[in-house]
Amino acid sequence: MRRKNPRLRSGARRRGPDELGAPADQAGLGRRISRGLEPGRRRRRRGAGNVSRRRREGLQKNRDIPGHKTTSRLSPHLAFGEISPHRVWRATEGLGDTIPVEDVIHFRKELAWREFSWHLLFHVPDLPRENLNKKFDAFPWADDREGLSLWTRGLTGYPIVDAGMRELWRTGWMHNRVRMIVASFLIKDLLLHWTEGEAWFRDTLVDVDLASNAASWQWVAGCGADAAPYFRIFNPIRQGETFDPDGTYVRRYCPELARLPDRYIHKPWEAPREVLSQAGVRLGDTYPKPMVDHDRARKAALAAYSEITGSNPGDET
Ligand SMILES: Cc1cc2nc3c(=O)[nH]c(=O)nc-3n(C[C@H](O)[C@H](O)[C@H](O)COP(=O)(O)OP(=O)(O)OC[C@H]3O[C@@H](n4cnc5c(N)ncnc54)[C@H](O)[C@@H]3O)c2cc1C
Repeated sequence: MRRKNPRLRSGARRRGPDELGAPADQAGLGRRISRGLEPGRRRRRRGAGNVSRRRREGLQKNRDIPGHKTTSRLSPHLAFGEISPHRVWRATEGLGDTIPVEDVIHFRKELAWREFSWHLLFHVPDLPRENLNKKFDAFPWADDREGLSLWTRGLTGYPIVDAGMRELWRTGWMHNRVRMIVASFLIKDLLLHWTEGEAWFRDTLVDVDLASNAASWQWVAGCGADAAPYFRIFNPIRQGETFDPDGTYVRRYCPELARLPDRYIHKPWEAPREVLSQAGVRLGDTYPKPMVDHDRARKAALAAYSEITGSNPGDET
């Protein structure tokens, strides 16, 4: 069941994508991607080397910080079959002698998520289309084309979400933490069906992997195997402040906000008028106002969830 989204704020002037540096069409996408990724064996080997080098830099601690390149970035090479998961696993053997063994275990767990996703897809070929948990078939999803369009173009008015969607468009890749944030926003702030996000990621990710993508979207939606509970709703402001505290990531992909002080970088609408003016930000003009009110959206999501469960627990991260 899909409904029009009554919570979408109207009245704010919608900016064209070019005006905000966001994508307008597919032109140049391949060029942008190839700038960041060098396909083939040489690059792949360098990636495998990163497994150990980045471990030494304390990846487990820093892997959730999207502003720094702390993860292996092997996903496109794994997705294209340039390197096998077995080979990557083997590359980590013996690493525990030189770096903390927890880091090696953590990295291997990530590889195991990939294998688990493929296991699921093998046994449930409908994984990219159907809720694993059938209870979600009755969920009252919204039918909101405009909301979907603003999300895809990184024009939601929530800086961490917009930075993620623009990173995806410009580079074909997105940091894992931010994938979870933007997915939660689509599903729980906009109440859009997770398959809408899965399809957009499938069209735009350079590391797209049918199994990992579908399993991850279902995980965020709460309808997958071993999924995050639906009622665990990401707060895009708190997530930004925790994982991008100095706004390095947001400033990189939302340059129109770059001159805002750290304090307001994840909530520009709370900045006093003179602060906005000094930073050259005009909300609703150079950068959009939030397309939904997160607190209200969260309550609406929990109410929708209670329609299929009869309960209404709340838990925000
Ligand atoms: C909504 C959403 C969609 C996603 N779609 C994809 C996708 O299409 N393709 C894809 O490869 N990953 C996907 N992921 C998982 C994860 O975000 C990427 O694998 C990771 O960001 C790739 O960066 P990396 O190679 O630096 O990872 P690292 O942290 O260095 O991990 C090493 C490898 O482990 C695997 N891995 C890590 N985390 C996961 C995970 N949560 N699930 C499955 N495998 C994982 C990847 O193959 C990755 O290359 C998705 C996650 C979410 C939340």
